[in-house]
Amino acid sequence: MTGGCLCGAVRYESSGEPSFALLCHCRDCQRQSGSAYNAALRVPAAGFRITGGTPKLYVKTADSGNTVSRAFCPECGSPLYLLVSTRPDLVGIRVGTLDDPSGFRPEADIFVQSAQPWDYMNPALPKYPAYPPGRSYTPNS
Ligand SMILES: [Zn+2]
Ligand SMILES: [Zn+2]
Repeated sequence: MTGGCLCGAVRYESSGEPSFALLCHCRDCQRQSGSAYNAALRVPAAGFRITGGTPKLYVKTADSGNTVSRAFCPECGSPLYLLVSTRPDLVGIRVGTLDDPSGFRPEADIFVQSAQPWDYMNPALPKYPAYPPGRSYTPNS
């Protein structure tokens, strides 16, 4: 898979098998996306690399206590992916930045405890107040 930002300055590629396809409704994702949620695809960090430009990182401690680094293009501001301190083996790609996002099949809505009342969610998808069991970034939870 390949992808990049709106202006094209930052480009990336990912060759690993995705492990989780999710829609995150947390407030941090709402603020960073400027929308109701973020569509994200967790891929192995080992198969992920930047092929053009240098993204800027915004680092914030999440409600979970994890340190989350959100990568975005310093030129156009597009959010590209995120990294979580406790899971350096994973990268969470922002699905809308893929060159072809059409194959994305979300498995779950997460952090629906902070979803907005006007955010219509697919009733067929499982919903979790925060992380689904076993999907947290915190080891052993
Ligand atoms: Zn850009
Ligand atoms: Zn989120």
